[in-house]
Amino acid sequence: MIIVMKPNVSKEKIQDLKTKLNGRGIVVNLWEGEKYSVLGLLGDTSSINPSQIQADECVDKVLHVQEPYKKANRLFHPEDTIIKVGNEEIGSSKIAVMAGPCSVESEEQLIGIAERIKKSGAGFLRGGAFKPRTSPYSFQGMKEEGLNILKKAREITGLPIVTEIMSTKLVEKFVEDVDIIQVGARNMQNFDLLKELGRTKKTILLKRGLSATIEEFLMSAEYIMAGGNDNVILCERGIRTFETYTRNTLDLSAVPVIKKLSHLPIIIDPSHAGGMWWLVEPLAKAAVAVGADGLMIEVHNDPVNAKSDGAQSLKPEKFDSLMKSLRQVAKAVDKEI
Ligand code: PEP
Ligand code: MN
Repeated sequence: MIIVMKPNVSKEKIQDLKTKLNGRGIVVNLWEGEKYSVLGLLGDTSSINPSQIQADECVDKVLHVQEPYKKANRLFHPEDTIIKVGNEEIGSSKIAVMAGPCSVESEEQLIGIAERIKKSGAGFLRGGAFKPRTSPYSFQGMKEEGLNILKKAREITGLPIVTEIMSTKLVEKFVEDVDIIQVGARNMQNFDLLKELGRTKKTILLKRGLSATIEEFLMSAEYIMAGGNDNVILCERGIRTFETYTRNTLDLSAVPVIKKLSHLPIIIDPSHAGGMWWLVEPLAKAAVAVGADGLMIEVHNDPVNAKSDGAQSLKPEKFDSLMKSLRQVAKAVDKEI
């Protein structure tokens, strides 16, 4: 249930109503806009009589929230959420670009790529240290050593780092070391991990599960937010369909749908969606055109010899020309990159 207050109602009046509701065991999520405020009610609201609330002269309207996600719901937070990480923003009119290799492979490799992508205009460095591989015999990542290399690359370039977590045991370490913690597609419904991340204040990049519906995706975001962490970035990275030519099928419509349903920023990963380097540019352009708040793009100095996802990785020079061509598309939708 949400209560929309009349414009310019005083903070004291809002607080009175909030305290009254709290006293009845209801958790109240308060969103304050420039003119009006919204009280989002969480928990069992069956004891609340909407017409009684409506009788309060400060209340504009009382609405029932049909969807199972509440804090992620746009009704609870009518304006877009903008997340700040260092000097960068995700969800504003500037497209957030996160680029880097699938896996951290060596110091030389990562620092070389980081310097190149920074020069091309990327705002964040991505790189996997703990890799969720389909086969146990594939490269599993450099783990802690990989994290140290990421930190070194951040020190040199100033780029905030994004890397994937797989285990609840590492939450504390990631909170300490990393700027954005990525939850991969395969862990989108690892509820213990989501709950643990919800207890932190760190920015979480949540990727859509391989076969997850949009509602399931938003429910996973809700798990993190329910714990008190509102800093969630969603990432559409392609879903399983009957089509096998591409690695996954990029669900472009997820962007406007999620923008309608939720206030959270949503970015697109065209690399894991298409699975082939030459698909990255057209899909990235489409992502910007459809309203995505950012992009996650795999870049490798030597894709043929990459330890993971070489086929979908752009060489730094290709990434550079992609950034230039994206500027035109961004301009067409009143954004910058
Ligand atoms: C990755 O970003 O390298 C990755 C493993 O992505 P996903 O979880 O989308 O497959
Ligand atoms: Mn990858």
